[in-house]
Amino acid sequence: MRRQIIAGNWKMHGSRAENAALVESIVHKLPNSSAEVWVCPPFVYLAELSRALAGSRISLGAQDVCAETQGAFTGEVSAAMLKDVGCVYVIVGHSERRLLYRESDQLIARKFGAALAKGLTPILCVGEQLADREAARTREVVARQLDVVLELSGAGALEQAVVAYEPVWAIGTGRTASPEQAQEVHAFIRARIGARDARIAGATRILYGGSVKAGNAAELFAMPDVDGGLIGGASLKADEFLTILAAAGPG
Ligand code: PEP
Repeated sequence: MRRQIIAGNWKMHGSRAENAALVESIVHKLPNSSAEVWVCPPFVYLAELSRALAGSRISLGAQDVCAETQGAFTGEVSAAMLKDVGCVYVIVGHSERRLLYRESDQLIARKFGAALAKGLTPILCVGEQLADREAARTREVVARQLDVVLELSGAGALEQAVVAYEPVWAIGTGRTASPEQAQEVHAFIRARIGARDARIAGATRILYGGSVKAGNAAELFAMPDVDGGLIGGASLKADEFLTILAAAGPG
């Protein structure tokens, strides 16, 4: 049985006061769900939120990590630093990093390895752009993004990692993949991992991300290869996030 995960990616939103209010509302109204709950705030708020979440069943993740261990890398944050302030997870390869900051598959694979090396669980984001989907290149793109990581770290690394399928055309657009579209790509990702190691493929949790909301979460999470969601915009609204969490299944 794969335990579902509902992870909130706060992106570059929030303030100390807004974060405190959001966390307070979520912690006190958590539904009776068996799903794991993760939140990924901006770097500068991680230490404070680690204290605020202590003793709750919400775990902390970051939105990015440096591929290097330490040194003269101005503006970067290392995996060891994330660990030090209480992070358990880190998103790598989010499409906004790939597209806006030109992060390559190779760099993302190195970030994935750097996170693992310090005992963080990487959430590897993969997903095609609209033009790829329209040209029937979804599998080719997702396979390429996944294979670079599998080549560098090996399939065994996925025992300590999570994959998130995030079609770029569905992120922040209000346009969601249908449950069938999501399932098709999730099954493809699982099969791709399975070609290297069937046991690990069966255990790997694959999240769907892309305009998940209270109104569509249940049908997406009901798909056999969808093991929860990576939630952007809707994770900033306590009621919406809690409804999504409730859709992940009872405790
Ligand atoms: C994301 O940023 O990972 C995401 C899925 O965003 P949204 O839910 O807003 O589409």
